[in-house]
Amino acid sequence: MSLAKEIEKRRTFGIISHPDAGKTTLTEKLLLFGGAIQKAGAVKSNKIDMHARSDWMEIEKQRGISVATSVMAFEYEGSKINLLDTPGHQDFAEDTYRTLTAVDSVIMVIDCVKGVEIQTEKLMEVCRMRNTPVISFINKLDREGRDPYDLLDDIEGKLGINVHPLSWPIGMGKDFRGVYSLYDKSLRLFKAGGQQLHEEAFKFADINSPELEKYVGESYAAQLREDVEMLDDLYGPLDVEAYLNGDVAPVFFGSAVNNFGVKELLDTFLKISPAPKSRFLDETKITPEHKEFTGFVFKIHANMDPKHRNRIAFLRICSGKFERGSNYYHTRQEKKFRISQATAFMAQDKETVDEAYPGDIIGLYDTGNFKIGDTLTEGEKGMYRGIPSFSPEIFREVINKDAMKTKQLEKGLNQLMDEGVAQLFNFELGSRKAVGVVGQLQFEVIQYRLKNEYGATVDFAPMQLYKACWISSNDQKKLNEFISSKQRHIARDKDNKLVFMAESKAWLQMVQDNFPDIEFHFTSEF
Ligand code: GDP
Repeated sequence: MSLAKEIEKRRTFGIISHPDAGKTTLTEKLLLFGGAIQKAGAVKSNKIDMHARSDWMEIEKQRGISVATSVMAFEYEGSKINLLDTPGHQDFAEDTYRTLTAVDSVIMVIDCVKGVEIQTEKLMEVCRMRNTPVISFINKLDREGRDPYDLLDDIEGKLGINVHPLSWPIGMGKDFRGVYSLYDKSLRLFKAGGQQLHEEAFKFADINSPELEKYVGESYAAQLREDVEMLDDLYGPLDVEAYLNGDVAPVFFGSAVNNFGVKELLDTFLKISPAPKSRFLDETKITPEHKEFTGFVFKIHANMDPKHRNRIAFLRICSGKFERGSNYYHTRQEKKFRISQATAFMAQDKETVDEAYPGDIIGLYDTGNFKIGDTLTEGEKGMYRGIPSFSPEIFREVINKDAMKTKQLEKGLNQLMDEGVAQLFNFELGSRKAVGVVGQLQFEVIQYRLKNEYGATVDFAPMQLYKACWISSNDQKKLNEFISSKQRHIARDKDNKLVFMAESKAWLQMVQDNFPDIEFHFTSEF
């Protein structure tokens, strides 16, 4: 098959949701369609059970499950689908943000009872930064939820994206009758507990046909006609370009646990969602059809066994063809590596992969050569852009409790930072180090892993910090002045970039007002 055909058939996406909205359930149904698993219940939730917080082995076991489900690839109707898992727990949100840099589109699950929840808002911000196309699945229609118009308003209001319903619910909760597809003008009747792979769809070229009453009864038929007329007026046909630009989110209604509305979602997704797109290697636009192989690392997973400190680097292929056994150029280290071990992730299994194409994710066996954001090419220089660090939300100062183990501590910290467990900021003055994380749980993970894997003992002291802001200015002189006037608050990130450590929101605002020539950024790429 030609490279162009391989690219065209690939869909690489992630499912995002607030915990409990139904991401795991939907994932499982999608895999059933792909024939990648045989029965429901086969997909394990990647949720970290908070009751297990004090039991580290238990957490590691659960992390192990999350590795197994990091990437689930399957074939469906001639497409090769790469579904990237995103940790649902907010303490691992940074992991999710990075995973979103490796996808071409997103399916967002929303609970119809709860509407848009906080974690979804945050994840949507990341999608918006990259104009990632989003399809929304409003789930749990078998429950008494909010009014569908209300839910659409909620998405537009809270997520700052225009919606375009492609299906419409008939009734809800115990009176849920089914959905009408505005996209292909057909009716699907709800059956609870459906494990069926094919929903029966009745075509309704004309919604005014009296047949409709037969299926849903008089009052629902009348209501549906009214709704459809209004929706047609309001939205018209879907503007696929607007969806692809990330301006409009098509919306589906259904019930994942009942496998209802899922096939419709999947079929439409395959029709409209983007195949792998061009990306920027520094300033150069690289199309997926670019003959030479390129890709970047967006996730690193360490083996928890201290005797085998190997890791898996997850690489997203951006262009060309990957061939195992080839020598590829590591652009940060400026040297070639022979890649002799690589795995593909097919649903529940890992297997050795000999060749792979743009959109695919491969796991590279790593002994410490890779960092998040690293780029592999056939010789081209540069780094793939769009894998930023985000300002953490909680900061602690690292206190070394065992001076004899300073070297191990340095090494351990650096390696954990390479994996993206947290972010380290080195203050310019003195030797203070701040660790920034998105969630409290990460401090415990770091402390445990430093001890267990590197023999270093640390404590974390509270720090009065609000945000880490990457700074820049068009005026180098002004930037230097700023740095010298705020020396105590200047630090460097892992890439040696300048960061201003703001102590409070009010103070940051004041500093921004006083230094209008300095730009303050909340992500490391701007
Ligand atoms: P995640 O945290 O987003 O992965 O959510 P899960 O897929 O684990 O689902 C959370 C809970 O909602 C589970 O108990 C599911 O069985 C349930 N659930 C998922 N989909 C539906 C649905 O369509 N209707 C109802 N009533 N429950 C659902």
